[in-house]
Amino acid sequence: MLLVSNVSFSYKCDKTLCKVTFSIKKGQHVSILGESGSGKSTLLKVIYGLEDLNEGEIFWNETVVLGPKFNLVPGMSFMKYLAQDFDLMPYITVSENIGKFLSNFYPENKQERIKELLQLVEMTAFSDVKVKYLSGGQMQRVAIARVLALEPEILLFDEPFSHIDNSRKNNLRRSVFNYAKEKGVTCIVATHDMDDALSFSDKIIVLKNGKVIAEETPDTLFNSKDNVDVAKLFGDINVIDSVFLGELINNKQLIYPFELEITEQSKLRIEVLNSYYKGRNYLIEAKYDEGILFFENVNKLARGEQVFLKLKD
Ligand code: ADP
Ligand code: MG
Repeated sequence: MLLVSNVSFSYKCDKTLCKVTFSIKKGQHVSILGESGSGKSTLLKVIYGLEDLNEGEIFWNETVVLGPKFNLVPGMSFMKYLAQDFDLMPYITVSENIGKFLSNFYPENKQERIKELLQLVEMTAFSDVKVKYLSGGQMQRVAIARVLALEPEILLFDEPFSHIDNSRKNNLRRSVFNYAKEKGVTCIVATHDMDDALSFSDKIIVLKNGKVIAEETPDTLFNSKDNVDVAKLFGDINVIDSVFLGELINNKQLIYPFELEITEQSKLRIEVLNSYYKGRNYLIEAKYDEGILFFENVNKLARGEQVFLKLKD
């Protein structure tokens, strides 16, 4: 088990991480979700042992994670860390980069393993190309293969698919995360992408300004909607007073756009401002008595059109 206990850390005076506490069981897949600047990358760095803590402790089973002051070689050997800037060697080939951490003792095994990893990240065709000639997305795929090579006990991924095209991202995400799961590797993934977080995580930890503001399963987190900062991470969110939704009490509710639909008559009358095409439907931006809201509709609506909305049953 990984235990992060009461960890605080600051680069200068302000606290970048503040009393962060959570635990992760062996083999679990955990996402660290938060907006840019919330401290995700810093948290991965302290878990890996690249910074000295101001306060708190981090353990992997009985082993304490040591920072650079106490550890000659930065980074704990049983973990692999994929940094946001990948850290590849530009003047050697894709294969050589992937094999960098693999032993030369059994050259045939090494080549076999590199081949397997090249296939996993769909880079077989680039095996002998020098890394400096690759695109950002291709480099990121090589970097992913390289951290998988040694089957570490813990994988720390910092925004692992940020440079990869949408057409390839879904497939790659499934391959890499399922591969880690099969091998029983504990995965911690820093991301601001809800598709990374919702589909694969056993648990999501939400950071805001260096503090943990939620720690839940994806399902509970998405449906609980008790914190606007959390709900915002999953896309557009409306804050609507319950009286507009037919209830008697005054009470702000968080409502996703897909939860609203047009009805004959209700307390929630809106005027359409804009319709945004989303492929399967339109996202409609509208104004109502208390401000702006968003809802989804199959058809485009004309600007100025007035309709009533209700919560879907
Ligand atoms: P995230 O990965 O969620 O975007 P980071 O962990 O990179 O967040 O950054 C958290 C905060 O720490 C930000 O305010 C950032 O500017 C600051 N920060 C990050 N790295 C450094 C550094 N090396 N020196 C000083 N401040 C830093
Ligand atoms: Mg970051």
